[in-house]
Amino acid sequence: MQGTAERADPIDPILSVENLRTTYYTDKEEIHAVDGVDFHVNRGETLGIVGESGSGKSVTARSVLGLVDEPGVIEAGSSITFDGEELTEKTEREMERIRGGRIAMVFQDPLNSLNPVYTVGNQIREALQLHRGISGSTAKEKAIELLEDVGIPDATRRVDEFPHQFSGGMRQRAVIAMGLACDPDLLICDEPTTALDVTIQAQIIEYLEEIQARRGLSIIFITHDMGVIAEVADRVAVMYAGKIAESAPVSELFANASHPYTEGLLASIPGNNVGRDRLATIEGDVPTPTSTATSCRFSPRCPKAFDDCRTVHPKLVPVRDGVTDHTAACLLYPDDEPRTDAVETHRDHDTATEETER
Ligand code: ADP
Ligand code: MG
Repeated sequence: MQGTAERADPIDPILSVENLRTTYYTDKEEIHAVDGVDFHVNRGETLGIVGESGSGKSVTARSVLGLVDEPGVIEAGSSITFDGEELTEKTEREMERIRGGRIAMVFQDPLNSLNPVYTVGNQIREALQLHRGISGSTAKEKAIELLEDVGIPDATRRVDEFPHQFSGGMRQRAVIAMGLACDPDLLICDEPTTALDVTIQAQIIEYLEEIQARRGLSIIFITHDMGVIAEVADRVAVMYAGKIAESAPVSELFANASHPYTEGLLASIPGNNVGRDRLATIEGDVPTPTSTATSCRFSPRCPKAFDDCRTVHPKLVPVRDGVTDHTAACLLYPDDEPRTDAVETHRDHDTATEETER
């Protein structure tokens, strides 16, 4: 989100993810849900992760939190560094302390995160007690303050109500308040506004922005909605079939979308196709990656695909020589190189990966 007081230090990210691979070994097949993903989150910034349903966004978030359930496995060689510590080496107990303590997560469906038999206030107080040792009347005051922070009107009365007495939008705010109760350094929001109407969605985004500016919070905001990304993100990672397809600062991404998949996502935003009577959408579905990639996984749907796209697996490369903050995993890039040279850049990497895997 723009306008954060303390600007991020790019050489000291709060979170750094390298070669993250999370595989589900089901009876039928191996699902490479996250298939070699690299990204980082700077302090005080919002990284938006966007992509269609099934692209691996939630599994990426769950991997960071150490919440990958069987038959899922975070593969060896994956690295998740949070504030200088390697999370993949932590024990379950250590991860429990980090979750809800230093990293909080807000899921799409607030009903799954709230217990129907306890008041909202009790649940926030429990989080305060568990993670910060705050109890009694101080905890109640703090709970009211947190509800006020996320824009719950009449919080003094509302704190004693049950989740079912809250509207959908207020429940989602209560869940965000619970997440903030532990005063996290990183908040991961997985489609937190998807089920809400646009007005409530805009309000929640506004509150998150305010809280972020006040606390210097880092946020990963996951959504399938490019319109929401434009509102919330400082930088964006576009995910497709377990991989990052493109990564850039938000203004650069919207001004100079480079990957044909990103172009397709942008064309699908209502209002971006003025003059057309039909919404441009990308035909087809996100494939489930069940084997090592030997081609571009987007090529079957790509309007710009050429022969090499079906035999060479692209890696993330700068879109142009000298550009450092805008990368795309597409054989069309770097676009200042002759096409054949660009393709060779990607092909080289294919062989290198195979060799290290042997
Ligand atoms: P997104 O959040 O982008 O919609 P997900 O991260 O939920 O996508 O899913 C990515 C891929 O991982 C999908 O193909 C999905 O079917 C698979 N997947 C997710 N969870 C499981 C699971 N528990 N068992 C098997 N496959 C899973
Ligand atoms: Mg998801």
